[in-house]
Amino acid sequence: MGKLFVVATPIGNLKDISFRAVETLKEVDFIICEDTRVSKILLDYYEIKKELVSFNAQTETKKIAAVIERIIHGENCALISDAGTPCISDPGVRLVNEAIKNEIDVLGVPGANAAIFALSISGLPTDSFVFEGFLPQKKGRQTKLKELSKEKRTIVLYESVYRIEKLLNELNELMPERYLVVWRELTKKFEENWRGVPKELLAALPSKNIKGEFVVVIAPINWKN
Ligand code: SAM
Repeated sequence: MGKLFVVATPIGNLKDISFRAVETLKEVDFIICEDTRVSKILLDYYEIKKELVSFNAQTETKKIAAVIERIIHGENCALISDAGTPCISDPGVRLVNEAIKNEIDVLGVPGANAAIFALSISGLPTDSFVFEGFLPQKKGRQTKLKELSKEKRTIVLYESVYRIEKLLNELNELMPERYLVVWRELTKKFEENWRGVPKELLAALPSKNIKGEFVVVIAPINWKN
């Protein structure tokens, strides 16, 4: 029986990967990734030549059985995602679960995660926090935001470039006094962050040609800077 390794990869800067992660990727028989073009950049950088099997939320179900079969027959497999820790707002949960059900050893190689990293440099309370990932885009979004407006813990959200302004407008409506930190392009060349209440961030964020990936960290209700 082979093993399944869940391996964290960088969230931007290709150097943010552990020695053990690189070693593991060099040693396994095949690697499951999301977009082979994205993972190839990392693998080429570390001169890793491996079979890449692509896997995403749509194809996961279809491919699980074949992957489990290969592991049962002795091949070691690594699961990676386009960025950061697999299974965190990324595909892989069902594969890990299926491996466990089939008594396959699941081993993790920890590393970067945008939410935890943003939280660690936010200056906001970290003793207790809630990670909501991506908010629903339509149905349930307002309900979730209203629920979060009463949250007593620090909140961490992922947001895409297409909705970051919309999110700040929504936060301005529902929690205008709440202190936030918004991170863009963490660990990358054009990394930046903005701090303040939603209105201040709306004024500071460029309204045109803004690009990249965002993490939003929201202070607990009644938190004072
Ligand atoms: N599995 C990943 C992790 O461990 O962080 C998250 C994958 S999720 C599909 C991608 C989202 O994570 C982006 O839309 C953004 O909200 C956040 N993200 C990932 N990398 C980031 C970065 N370098 N800077 C800011 N946000 C990032």
